[in-house]
Amino acid sequence: MEFLPDDIAAYVQAHTAAEPELLKKIARDTHAQVLKPRMLSGNVQGRFLSLISKLMQPKLILEIGTYTGYSAICLAEGLAAGGKLITIDINEELENRVRGYFEQAGLKDVIDYRIGNALNFLPTINESIDLVFIDADKENYIKYYNLVFDKVRSGGLILADNVLWSGKITQTKTDKDTRALQEFNDAVVADARVECMLLPLRDGIMMARKK
Ligand code: SAH
Ligand code: CA
Repeated sequence: MEFLPDDIAAYVQAHTAAEPELLKKIARDTHAQVLKPRMLSGNVQGRFLSLISKLMQPKLILEIGTYTGYSAICLAEGLAAGGKLITIDINEELENRVRGYFEQAGLKDVIDYRIGNALNFLPTINESIDLVFIDADKENYIKYYNLVFDKVRSGGLILADNVLWSGKITQTKTDKDTRALQEFNDAVVADARVECMLLPLRDGIMMARKK
């Protein structure tokens, strides 16, 4: 479901910085060759991630849910000199494709791309994180939030995607993923350790800044 009427969505797109050529190619390839291409961020959300990252100039970004690498490349655009982005995905079938894209983006040495289950991987991170983008399986959003929270520096930002879940988030009789996202949103807004806002961009992005 799209929240914005087509003409407004087209206007927003037309007044947002253009999509870099490699990201256009990744979006094209993903739609033509990969299952579930709707999961890809797209240009408006991609430019938002890039802008947030450029404003923060993070030294360490953590992304949970790489898919075809689109959002990782957007986020990496704002890294501080010498900074790095760690991204993890459980789907090993996309590995060669994604490594190729990171290489073409000139980000091979900047992006630490891991294949595996984020639930097992996150406890092994020992560095201070500036910016987190949670975008993997919705069922585990709360676990991801709790697993990374103490590693995020004060003033750091946790973003979580798809928190409006095509509008299903306001329904009462619903499925497992929707309920998990409802519990996640409720937990974040009740968490006194953060200032949060639910940004209604595309499918909804929860933004939580650690105090
Ligand atoms: N961030 C991407 C889209 C991510 S789609 C973009 O915006 O372009 C969600 C991804 O989460 C899928 O590729 C899926 O394989 C991955 N995923 C699902 N469960 C996971 C888990 N337990 N650990 C790591 N990745 C997982
Ligand atoms: Ca997403």
